[in-house]
Amino acid sequence: MTDSSATALPTRASALAVAFDKELAVVRESRSAAAVDELRVGYLGRKGKVTALLEDLRHCTKEERPAAGRSINELKQHVEAAIQQLKSEAQEWELSNRLHAEPLDISLPVTASVPQGSLHPVTLIRRELLTEFRRLGFTVFDGPEVDYDFYNFSALNMPSDHPARDMQDTFYLREQEHLLLRTHTSNIQIHCMLNERPPLRVVAPGRVFRVDSDPTHTPMFHQIEAFVVDRGVTFAHMKGVIDAFMKAVFGSSMKTRLRPSFFPFVEPGAELDLQCVQCQGKGCRLCKQTGWLEVGGCGMIHPNVFEAVDYDSDIYSGFAFGFGIDRMAMLKYKLDDLRQLFEGNHSFLGHFPLFT
Ligand SMILES: [Zn+2]
Repeated sequence: MTDSSATALPTRASALAVAFDKELAVVRESRSAAAVDELRVGYLGRKGKVTALLEDLRHCTKEERPAAGRSINELKQHVEAAIQQLKSEAQEWELSNRLHAEPLDISLPVTASVPQGSLHPVTLIRRELLTEFRRLGFTVFDGPEVDYDFYNFSALNMPSDHPARDMQDTFYLREQEHLLLRTHTSNIQIHCMLNERPPLRVVAPGRVFRVDSDPTHTPMFHQIEAFVVDRGVTFAHMKGVIDAFMKAVFGSSMKTRLRPSFFPFVEPGAELDLQCVQCQGKGCRLCKQTGWLEVGGCGMIHPNVFEAVDYDSDIYSGFAFGFGIDRMAMLKYKLDDLRQLFEGNHSFLGHFPLFT
């Protein structure tokens, strides 16, 4: 290498900058990530044009070196910055190239190998029940599945020595004796009444748990409970709401019947029966020839329950009724074994509509 070529370094650097800018424009036009990489290697690679200039710096004299070094450095920074910018542009090119390369054919049929899901019958019936309750002006409330015994028992007129606690075999939490899996959705009644003031018109659906397992009982099942608290609420209001509700769900010919019964949290209390959906009251195997099916319980909220939530029972009265959602699903879809609902069998679950 001669001195003259070393002297020419700043000139060569500016010529190279012009050449680079031209190539840059071509690459940008091509919108190709591979071209960006080629450009980078061609200028900054081990045998690249900028690298070659840097190597020629060795042949400069001490006096020439600062000016030559500066001009090459400026060129290098310019090339590096431009390529960095191109690289980020290239990511967008790639994405838009892919989007435009193969247009999506949305008219193609879904392949049969993709299994389609459906809603669980309990979900279907719960949605339907809630729709009817909302239509009657009820608000949906939720509450905890693991709860303190105060909400599940004590506040519902079942103190710790009350024999009613023996009526239900309860899952208690081993480490925390006051915590349990709720045995009914009535705990929501207490949570709700402690947080709100009357008038209340509330429906509370949810999972409940009892130590119980046979063809008509599972350790986990679903309940729904509705309650109304206001001035002047009577047993007749309750009968009217239950009747209107069951007619809405099962059709206008559905009849309901109340039979006197005992539940600690209501007074008076009653069993709630539906006319048999199979025989329309004539008598069949499902209803054990009685023409009626027992679906739940109801009654006027006990004054002791109001006392537990600090409501004045001289001013307010209320009713509550509840029933099993799974039982309703069995009746509505004419199922003969409750356990079918929880076995997760695809061919059984596939019979229910995908959407409602
Ligand atoms: Zn029957």
